Amino acid sequence: MAKIGFIGLGNMGGPMAINLVKAGHDVAVFDLSEQAMQALQEAGASAASSAVDAVKGAEFVISMLPAGKHVQGLYVTGDQPLFDHVSKDALVIDSSTIDAHTAKSVANSAQEQGLNFIDAPVSGGVGGATAGTLSFMVGASEQQFAKAKPILDIMGKNIFHAGVQGSGQVAKACNNMLLAILMSGTSEALNMGVNNGLDPKALSEIMRLSSGGNWALEVYNPYPGVMENAPASNDYQGGFQVDLMAKDLGLAMDLSEQSGSPTPMGTKANELFKEHSQAGNGALDFSSIINQYKK
Ligand code: NAD
Repeated sequence: MAKIGFIGLGNMGGPMAINLVKAGHDVAVFDLSEQAMQALQEAGASAASSAVDAVKGAEFVISMLPAGKHVQGLYVTGDQPLFDHVSKDALVIDSSTIDAHTAKSVANSAQEQGLNFIDAPVSGGVGGATAGTLSFMVGASEQQFAKAKPILDIMGKNIFHAGVQGSGQVAKACNNMLLAILMSGTSEALNMGVNNGLDPKALSEIMRLSSGGNWALEVYNPYPGVMENAPASNDYQGGFQVDLMAKDLGLAMDLSEQSGSPTPMGTKANELFKEHSQAGNGALDFSSIINQYKK
């Protein structure tokens, strides 16, 4: 049984922390939201009075926060930087999706203080967090990865070692940019086929089993009625929100600029999702991008 401090108990962090409690670990939690704290206490976690309190004596510290500024504030630049309170032999695992630049800079600050900080963003959404089947993309040394793995195994199914610190965030940005491109492209092809008299189910099946086959056609068809369990058949409720995809595309665009990597397809997908969000669709599932083509 490990002593774990867990900070950020939102849609993702809440169920992730619950899985650690269920696995028998001693989990001290903290969130700014009283309601989130209550839910975790009911699940068997101990409620800490502050983030500093949550990490006292912890062997592992895990954070699941909205963005880079929250992570930097919590550990380095806030009123009570946690790096002043984390024990020297603890491993700090940040699973938030943030920009790679901040992840590297926070890891450097940790190193300067003799501490271990790694990035381990996830893919799999709230469903994966609840079921303990997330994919983790980890930026860490071999040694840090080996130490983190048994803990990440409780919350996830696929635990990937992407490379050194920051690499997890790079992998996540690449994956989600590709996902946005695939979903947009699939929507584009389906809409054109339907406009030319094809049945969306028949066309989906043809493309799925031909060279255009991809993840969207396999498990997440954006056209309503083609796949019973996809968000498209449920008014685009649930799933992965447009605003979260827009956030991830923003991170991918930053990375593209910083590394001088041309991303014409990613740039177009970024514009499409931004426009879709600004039209009031931010809370819908991201496969609703097909409505941009139907207009
Ligand atoms: P969320 O907004 O539901 O939760 C964030 C939580 O952090 C909130 O409960 C908030 O009160 C808390 N918080 C913020 N600042 C804090 C601080 N200083 N101290 C303590 N608590 C603080 O967000 P989420 O959906 O759980 O997402 C978390 C991260 O995971 C984000 O980076 C997101 O991009 C990423 N992510 C989300 C999904 C998804 O489907 N929701 C999927 C993959 C990755």
